[in-house]
Amino acid sequence: LAGRDGVRQWAEEMDAQVSQRFELERDMRIGLEHSPEQFVLYYQPLIDLQTRQVRGVEALLRWQHPQRGLIGPDLFIPVAELTGLIVPLGRRALDGACRQLQQWQSEGLALEFVSVNLSPLQFSGEDLQCSVAETLANSGLAPEALVLEITESALMTDVQKSLDTLHVLKRMGVRLALDDFGTGYSSLSHLRSFPLDKLKIDRSFMQGVPESRGDSLLLASILELAAGLQLEVVAEGVETEAQLQFLYRHDCAMAQGFLLSRPLPVGQLQAWLAQDGD
Ligand code: C2E
Ligand code: CA
Ligand code: CA
Ligand code: CA
Repeated sequence: LAGRDGVRQWAEEMDAQVSQRFELERDMRIGLEHSPEQFVLYYQPLIDLQTRQVRGVEALLRWQHPQRGLIGPDLFIPVAELTGLIVPLGRRALDGACRQLQQWQSEGLALEFVSVNLSPLQFSGEDLQCSVAETLANSGLAPEALVLEITESALMTDVQKSLDTLHVLKRMGVRLALDDFGTGYSSLSHLRSFPLDKLKIDRSFMQGVPESRGDSLLLASILELAAGLQLEVVAEGVETEAQLQFLYRHDCAMAQGFLLSRPLPVGQLQAWLAQDGD
């Protein structure tokens, strides 16, 4: 569409986007206050590449919206970030994930950890340390069983403050993972100074591997770099057996991706764990 019609259509689309954002914000407030069970956690397994056993799971939020149905985080997390609602929502996710793993472990499931995503706002917030301490105390989960996933951009906003926060969390005994590695701007010297345990290589680096020589070389050098930093490496977005083989050959520690399993609701994950391997 050209000219005036094009402009009008553009304006209408903008209106639709803005009103969708406000509707989601309103519904999120109402949901969080009156029926927080709308926000559910799915869990995606992380596999040890040496043993092919499940080591842990990543908790990923979904929103069972009363009218719209199941909504993915790519749609509502940005709204939650913009409005600050990510703080209560993230707190709920942290709490739910710790309770769930504690329950699984008490039922005898051999899951070593649960990973929880921290938004930049949560990470820089005053009460992060308290939230984490309270959550661990309330759930009874061992601190070592909790992995907090933080993105590069969240860490780089204020490097000195991030360092302080990470050290506080480390002293509490929780594990720290750098999420979406490779998509941000971190300098290597910074990465080296952060007390991180794991590095999660963004799934964009998995595409084209192993068919494309360039993509494969790039991934191999990232894996080598991570090994040099002495971090446990997780590859995200593993969709093919050939990619899994590639990672195994390049000494990657863990893999996560649709090849192994999609993120699943609690019941389905339990069923998957029961039929997988042993
Ligand atoms: P993320 O932390 O990078 O999570 C991994 C995303 O990759 C998940 O999308 C997962 O479903 C997807 N994924 C896993 N394996 C594959 C694969 O083999 N192929 C492809 N194409 N995708 C794969 P999901 O669940 O839609 O989450 C999207 C993002 O939303 C997450 O990216 C994370 O940034 C954010 N998010 C989810 N839950 C939370 C939460 O509780 N708190 C915060 N702050 N952010 C969250
Ligand atoms: Ca993550
Ligand atoms: Ca990620
Ligand atoms: Ca991501």
